[in-house]
Amino acid sequence: MIEWNKVTEKPDKTYKVLGQNLLDQRNKINDLESNLQTTSSELNAARTRQDQANSKIATYEKAIGLLEEKATKYDALTKEFATLQEQHATVSQQFSQAQGQIAQLTQTIEDTTGKITDLSNANIDLTKKLEFSNAQAGEFNTKMIEAQKQVDELSKQVTGLKQLNEQNTAQIQQFSSKTQELEQSIGQKNQILAEKENALQEKTLAAEEFEAKVKELEPPIPDVSSYELDARIICPMCNGVDIKDIEDKTKVLSYVGHMPMYARKHQCKKCGYEWQ
Ligand SMILES: [Zn+2]
Repeated sequence: MIEWNKVTEKPDKTYKVLGQNLLDQRNKINDLESNLQTTSSELNAARTRQDQANSKIATYEKAIGLLEEKATKYDALTKEFATLQEQHATVSQQFSQAQGQIAQLTQTIEDTTGKITDLSNANIDLTKKLEFSNAQAGEFNTKMIEAQKQVDELSKQVTGLKQLNEQNTAQIQQFSSKTQELEQSIGQKNQILAEKENALQEKTLAAEEFEAKVKELEPPIPDVSSYELDARIICPMCNGVDIKDIEDKTKVLSYVGHMPMYARKHQCKKCGYEWQ
């Protein structure tokens, strides 16, 4: 055994060492050298591995930097995506509203198209009615022109009739004044006639009284007229002699007052023939 503590305390002193110990030491040193070579080669290999690992780490760090950049970009893209999703929701809502409006507009267009069709049909009917009315108006105008001509002719006739009427009115006024004059004259003559009639009645009464007195004084005498005067008249039809005198009421000779004095005529009592 080597007392290493005493050697350490007095490294200048010479110590007696057993050979076996030195052999053991040389074996240990050989072992250690061998171990050291192994360890050194292992250390070199480890260094090589460490260099490789370091280069890998550098590569990984680069990759991590890239990934971090990508993560940052991903965050930005995620935010952008959220914004775009919101915009998409808004646009979807607007699209739904627009689709509803399109449906309403489509319905409105269909309604309007139906109304246009109805109006077009109504327009066709009205056009036909207008043409018919125009034709009627044309006929009416023709009739109006004819009626106007008739009115003009009638107006001329009316003017002529008015002139005639004025002439007639003037004549009627003349006749009226003449009639008044004649009536006055007739009244005067009637008065004179009435006076004369009264005088005649008085004279007739006086004559009758005179005649009655004469008949009382005269003797009765036979009526010669029936024997002598009438006996000479012979009926020109039957040669009969029984003839009488009668009034001919178709011939008025004069008036006594209002009484007419008729002419006289012969009448055959046998055959009834009448003559003057
Ligand atoms: Zn006779």
